[in-house]
Amino acid sequence: MKRLANGRRCFCNREKSHAASVHEGFGCWRKKSFFIPFFSLKSMLRTQTNAIWHEKCPRCREGDIFSYPVSKISRFADMNEHCPVCKLRYEKEPGTFYGAMYVSYGFSIALIVTLFVATFVLGRDPQLWVYFVVILPTLVVMTPLFFRYARVLWLYFFTGIRYDPKFSKP
Ligand SMILES: [Zn+2]
Repeated sequence: MKRLANGRRCFCNREKSHAASVHEGFGCWRKKSFFIPFFSLKSMLRTQTNAIWHEKCPRCREGDIFSYPVSKISRFADMNEHCPVCKLRYEKEPGTFYGAMYVSYGFSIALIVTLFVATFVLGRDPQLWVYFVVILPTLVVMTPLFFRYARVLWLYFFTGIRYDPKFSKP
């Protein structure tokens, strides 16, 4: 995706063969953006949000941070030591991920508050056990995801690692 001189975004990567007028209005990018998933998955993956969502390396946005998908529940916490693509060492020093605990803690609090309010409103202030039945199992199920995304966000926003396209595969 490129930003054109007229401020619009072009998804078609053919600016050079296009007459400038093709990019005017919403002709070009709207039509082509519909096809993004089919022909440009790779460039989509490289946006920061997608890279975070797919738990990719913050430097090249291609290598996996974790060794296994979260569905392999017994190994959900196993991280690759280095990025398999750009060889970035994720844990620069021991304790790099100490702060990620607080991010994960924040996720848990947000979930508990949301579920508490939802239970209160939808259940019309039910008995105490209902809150436990709703909140505890959800929290247990979400813990692996919170753990992983806390580390991913920590890597992206608190370790000073920046995306550098030259580390991505061409
Ligand atoms: Zn990498």
